[in-house]
Amino acid sequence: MRTVIVNATVVTMNKNGDVYHPGFVMFEDDVITMAGEMKDLEEKAGHLDAKLIDGKNGILIPGMVNLHTHMGMVPFRGLGDDCKDRLRVFLIPMEQKAMDQELVYLSTRYAAGEMLLAGVTTVMDMYYYEEEAAKAMDEMGMRAIAGQTVMDEGACDFKDPKEALSYGENLIKKYLNHPRITACIAPHGTTTCSPEVLKEAYRIDSSYEVPFTLHTAEMDYEMEYLEKEKQMTPVGYLDSIGVLGKDTLAAHCIHMTEEDLDLLKERRASVAHCIGSNTKAAKGVAPVSGMNKREIAVGLGTDGPASGNTLDILTQMKLCADFHKNETKDRSAFPASDIVKMATIQGAAALGLDGITGSLEPGKQADLVLIETDSVNMFPVYDPYSALVYSANPSNVEAVYVAGECLVEGKRLKKNDMEEIRRSLINKMKHTDFGKYIENKQELDV
Ligand SMILES: [Zn+2]
Repeated sequence: MRTVIVNATVVTMNKNGDVYHPGFVMFEDDVITMAGEMKDLEEKAGHLDAKLIDGKNGILIPGMVNLHTHMGMVPFRGLGDDCKDRLRVFLIPMEQKAMDQELVYLSTRYAAGEMLLAGVTTVMDMYYYEEEAAKAMDEMGMRAIAGQTVMDEGACDFKDPKEALSYGENLIKKYLNHPRITACIAPHGTTTCSPEVLKEAYRIDSSYEVPFTLHTAEMDYEMEYLEKEKQMTPVGYLDSIGVLGKDTLAAHCIHMTEEDLDLLKERRASVAHCIGSNTKAAKGVAPVSGMNKREIAVGLGTDGPASGNTLDILTQMKLCADFHKNETKDRSAFPASDIVKMATIQGAAALGLDGITGSLEPGKQADLVLIETDSVNMFPVYDPYSALVYSANPSNVEAVYVAGECLVEGKRLKKNDMEEIRRSLINKMKHTDFGKYIENKQELDV
């Protein structure tokens, strides 16, 4: 079926940075076939056999990419906020007690709905029981990478990291030929996995050419441990054991030396920048200017809902611009067009998916998001990039397509019901041990 979205400001994010105003994007089934100025479409209008959708002067952008999150953690959102040791007090005990396959499935479905409603079309997830997550993301219609997390000490799904590795490899095989879903092994971090586990995960991921992602240079204890035990930085350590390469997506990269940045560039590794999560946890601000200067593929991640609370990239865009302007003491640094790049084409490049998604141009998958400009906060619009970064919020997301399929229409999920998704999750949360941990912390009634 051929569809054309007309009368929108089309922000293509192609190499030339073309913006068509007013413009159109045409796609046939899952593939974009044409994009351009309205006047060019009108020339051909007589021959058009297509479904026309009025963009109503909204801003049409490529679907946004969330490079780092843990979708199974929706039930933990808001727990341990403003608390010094959230990880040990809340998260680890609750995960061990309450997390099971069904909760991962229901939470991931919720997170996918939340992200789609906010215009995120591609996500790199890492968590446990990732087969359930992959199933949920597929059913919701997202483009996703399901990263099976592995830890030395074991987790809620597998006590033995070897079992988690082989579960991860089977999951990769299961999704090898899927049009939207890929799986990978996502070791937890540089100090929570032994070098043997890291190397084996990297060997498996690289052999299937899927991303190898892990938490890197994020925690104070991580920095101290590697300095004491190996006299190395996390990035230097990953390189020393041979797991830093073009498939490596290092999440966070807050504590970096100039040499670390050079190494990332040299090895063609990419970075998931999680500004909201990092600053909320008072961990610091990653040196993104240095990454951009070296043209390292750096995109945006929300981190899990228990870390950064939101799962939308529009919020990260504004935080990224604000914090880095402040950090560099330069109001002109990190211009809005660069931030939109990080949220779209650079994010896609960080996952090796820039040949498929991340820009609106012929041949790419029809992953698109229409941001309406009728709401009070979206008036007036002089520059679409600045409206996206400084004015827009997820409530402005009008319509979302993934692989040409309309998943959000009129600000509501089209093929799923968010109320039903929420009710199922609430119901599950009431019937697990986990319930007692959240007493008086969260409103559970529908
Ligand atoms: Zn994380």
